[in-house]
Amino acid sequence: MPEAYIGLGANVGDRLKNLRSAVSLIRSTITSPKAACTFSPLYESLPIGVTDQPLFLNAVLLTKTDLKPFELLDALQLIEHEIGRRPGRRWGPRHIDLDLLLYGEIEMNTTRLILPHPRLSERAFVLGPLTDLDTELNIPGETFAVGELLTKID
Ligand code: ATP
Ligand code: CA
Ligand code: CA
Repeated sequence: MPEAYIGLGANVGDRLKNLRSAVSLIRSTITSPKAACTFSPLYESLPIGVTDQPLFLNAVLLTKTDLKPFELLDALQLIEHEIGRRPGRRWGPRHIDLDLLLYGEIEMNTTRLILPHPRLSERAFVLGPLTDLDTELNIPGETFAVGELLTKID
């Protein structure tokens, strides 16, 4: 069954509550029955792109799912909406952001979905939690495993 790594981030409202709600909804709508979810520790990170906004709380979750990549993206966007996210400025404040970081070994580049997530390898708040989950994890298209990639960025 395919493994999916999902990046979670929140910087509006009760950030921890938003993350907990997202995890609960991921378990009930994305994770296959009987499959487990594994979580990284939580990290607090500086916002990127738009810097005049509150700190983010970030984590990465690993799960197994029967959903196909686009079905999974649909499910993540429904959960974002459920938790209160509405369209806003790019990289602006949000109740919750759910990025599909990796879906098995799949590589794709469409207007709605790019896999692996295109900015994954340049972000410490993604590489850090991924390294916590599996330091030897390989990203399709990358030469180095995540633990090594983490040492190469600021
Ligand atoms: P970033 O993608 O740099 O982290 P963001 O998370 O703030 O920025 P969003 O506004 O949440 O960006 O998403 C913009 C669009 O990105 C979504 O509507 C979605 O169709 C598209 N997208 C492409 N690839 C992915 C992916 N792997 N995971 C989530 N969304 C993706
Ligand atoms: Ca994001
Ligand atoms: Ca996103």
